[in-house]
Amino acid sequence: MHIVEHLIAGAWTAGRDTSTVIDPHDGTPVSTVPAATPHEVALAVAAARGAQPDWAATAPDARADALRSAATAVEHATGALARTMSAEMGKPEHEAAASIAAGVGTLRQYAELGPLHGGRTLGGDLGALDLMLREPRGVVAAITPWNDPVAIACGLLGAALVTGNAVVHKPSERTPATGWLLTKVLEPHFPPSVLSMLAGAGPTGAALAESAVDVVAHVGSTATGRAIAAAAARTGAKVLLENGGCDPLVVDGDVDPAWAAQQAAMGAFANAGQICVSVERIYVHQDVAEDFLAALVKEAAAFEIGPLVDVRHRTGVHGQVVDALDRGARLLAGGVVPDRPGAWYPPTVLASCTDEMRVVESETFGPVAAVVEVPSFDEALRRAARSPYGLAATVLTGSMSNAHWASQQLEAGTVKINAVFGGAPGGAAHPRRGSGQGFGYGPELLDEMTATKVVHLEAPPGGW
Ligand code: NAD
Repeated sequence: MHIVEHLIAGAWTAGRDTSTVIDPHDGTPVSTVPAATPHEVALAVAAARGAQPDWAATAPDARADALRSAATAVEHATGALARTMSAEMGKPEHEAAASIAAGVGTLRQYAELGPLHGGRTLGGDLGALDLMLREPRGVVAAITPWNDPVAIACGLLGAALVTGNAVVHKPSERTPATGWLLTKVLEPHFPPSVLSMLAGAGPTGAALAESAVDVVAHVGSTATGRAIAAAAARTGAKVLLENGGCDPLVVDGDVDPAWAAQQAAMGAFANAGQICVSVERIYVHQDVAEDFLAALVKEAAAFEIGPLVDVRHRTGVHGQVVDALDRGARLLAGGVVPDRPGAWYPPTVLASCTDEMRVVESETFGPVAAVVEVPSFDEALRRAARSPYGLAATVLTGSMSNAHWASQQLEAGTVKINAVFGGAPGGAAHPRRGSGQGFGYGPELLDEMTATKVVHLEAPPGGW
């Protein structure tokens, strides 16, 4: 069993007030996690504040070298990290290893991009020099979720560190040992206190969000993001929020229903539905609805998934399914809590859903395909666009004009046409509404982690 510690002021310290993380495969204990107190949060932030100026004064190339060697160390630790991640949150080990590889890739990208990230010169008076410079913001609090714990942390930490910030990371209380192992691998590559780690749950995150940091970068639920934004409004810290989604999938009447069902199954069931851009609601044109549903039931029966993160989360997922059935949805596959240890839940297909059902209107974050049959593409689009979230959306259509119209009408950070998980590397979008704010990914994250300063330089009268 892993005994998770905090990394405060460059030293690993055992914490108090511990709780235990349970393996969702079989209910066995995996790790014990302490809860950092507000005092420990303040110590970590003060140490980060003390270490940051020297780190900022380190040449960008040297910072990039540190990140590059840290990336290699994470790569070498893939086995241990993947086993721990799988045991803590249920992702099959080979999928965990793939997501760690993505994290390593992100660290390496930021190592390359960091030294290239600069400002620009301005065209002012010929005798003057006008510059726009990028400076690190200072101390960044990174508060991360459990559903893809290494890749998400690597993105925030990589971008913040390479631009000269010190980071205090709080991994999720559901994947504390994964965060702790990652920190153990990363930390030796940086000067003491440039990277710190605090274990703990919501109260520790809240204390960190209220502390004297310069940026709070949060990837997680919408409710938490809003609480963090309120705290930052009081302290003046900048917030960066990558939050929940309720992504629609629109299936047009002219597509192959079997292919559309494959796409829907992948979107709804991959990582047991626990991806921020999982397909959460499906609007299918009535012309293909029957064949689509029949094919989706077959896909659900064949889809292999790990358990949900824990029993508490499964209770919430199943509660949404029961609510939908109570309100008239038809259960075509799954929907029954299996009688076995752990937090398993089967791929589930619900038909005849309506927009008022919780499974359609809010984020389920489970392996549930909630299908709404609609009479036309336009109606599908209208209902898909109506949401308190705005993370991403997918449209399956053979019509270029429908594709173009949909990409304009859907108010979401990302619109995907004919591929639920497609996208070129480096893409970064602004999430809308409850899904967050700012660039959480890509080269633009380097902009978020830095502040722009304008310098106007003139010679004194008579010259230098
Ligand atoms: P969560 O918000 O509950 O937890 C995320 C982190 O916030 C954890 O470290 C947690 O301890 C901390 N936290 C909880 N309450 C806090 C508070 N009051 N103040 C400060 N910190 C607090 O989210 P989760 O359940 O871990 O993750 C799942 C959610 O994350 C889903 O909604 C999913 O869509 C979202 N997510 C979004 C993206 C994205 O890029 N948009 C990526 C992954 C996950």
